[in-house]
Amino acid sequence: MLVYVQHKDGTPLMPCKPSKARKLLRDKKAKCVCRTPFTIRLNWDSTKHVQKLVLGVDMGSRNSGFAVRNENNQVVYLSEVESKQDIVGKMDTRRSFRRVRRNRKTRYRKCRFLNRKNSTKDNRYPPSIRSKYDSIWKEIKYICCKILPIDDLVIETATFDPHLMQNYKLAFQPWMYQKGLKFGYRNTAHYVLKRDNYTCQKCRGKKKDSRLQIHHVLYRNQGGSDRANNLITLCSTCHRELHSGLFSLTKRNTKSLLSHATHMNVLQSMFRKRIQFREIVGSFTKTVRQYFGIPKEHCFDAICCSIKKDIVPELLTNRIFQKKCIGRGNYKLTNGIRSEKFIPKGKINGFKRWDTVLHKNIRCFVKGRMSTGYMVLCNILGQKLNFRPMPKPSTTKRLSSRKSWIIAELVIQSS
Ligand SMILES: [Zn+2]
Ligand SMILES: [Zn+2]
Repeated sequence: MLVYVQHKDGTPLMPCKPSKARKLLRDKKAKCVCRTPFTIRLNWDSTKHVQKLVLGVDMGSRNSGFAVRNENNQVVYLSEVESKQDIVGKMDTRRSFRRVRRNRKTRYRKCRFLNRKNSTKDNRYPPSIRSKYDSIWKEIKYICCKILPIDDLVIETATFDPHLMQNYKLAFQPWMYQKGLKFGYRNTAHYVLKRDNYTCQKCRGKKKDSRLQIHHVLYRNQGGSDRANNLITLCSTCHRELHSGLFSLTKRNTKSLLSHATHMNVLQSMFRKRIQFREIVGSFTKTVRQYFGIPKEHCFDAICCSIKKDIVPELLTNRIFQKKCIGRGNYKLTNGIRSEKFIPKGKINGFKRWDTVLHKNIRCFVKGRMSTGYMVLCNILGQKLNFRPMPKPSTTKRLSSRKSWIIAELVIQSS
């Protein structure tokens, strides 16, 4: 375990051992500024002598890993950040609420069209990707400005090829790149009809209905794609029966196989445009990981991409800081669509949502509060913890207030 140290003016210095930090705190030469990760700030004007530290980042569409090593390949910081995954869903909900409201308030409104400035703006990224970028950038900034004097930034990049991911044979036949799935067909519908041999895939032509239609196996409004493997040919009779619920098709999960790959490609280009860093290709990281026999976790991947090749890496810290990004506040005003009963946004019995608390010596987070005076607590994964009896404000200690992420410490068992 290590304690992170800041200079009197707040700039990060080299970390120290807990025993030294304890002595400094006892002699009132330093004060604690953060509990997780434990950080102290010196009271006196020390020298700013630091080593060269390298920060390695393993970017992911959901989880990203961060690791800092010194010149002797000793790892001094490990963390994992989970970015928000609910942006798309929340924006869809907001859109549907707005649409309902604008239909309900029926005064005359002038037609508006082509008024979406975002679609023509330069350098504009969708909110879901922007949130992912922000969560990674926030952790990089936090490490560099608050915890450790970083000298060099290495990010693992790998360009994903959606075409190759759909058809692995292209790796051996690169000349086939121009001839994708729909080569020679007018459009996807034409391809799907031809693939299904112009017959209904349910009744195989037994219902004598010659009107053929294309159906989305996983509906568009449930996130199904327009790609051919989500489409199926049905005759008009079967199609109507299917939508009225007389039978159902087995749903293949074709939802987000390629969207994560695309998110990663976009994220990398965002980083290249905005900050300067050293790039390492993903295949190099994999080779290093296999050579040293390091397990495949995001933060260990981050060690591999920042590593010096000739020295075996060593862990000086045995903690992984797990961070999960959450919203900055609760913006839902009332309970239910037309209710006038306001939801309290501030504290209830001294607790806010996502506050870090201590209950029965377990560090956990406030998931929900009830007006009856009870609380629901959860762990870093958002899973409810079943305490008996139910936690009350009087038996729970508030450690820190809500921030835009929740942090937990994971201790690595040495093996
Ligand atoms: Zn049919
Ligand atoms: Zn349909």
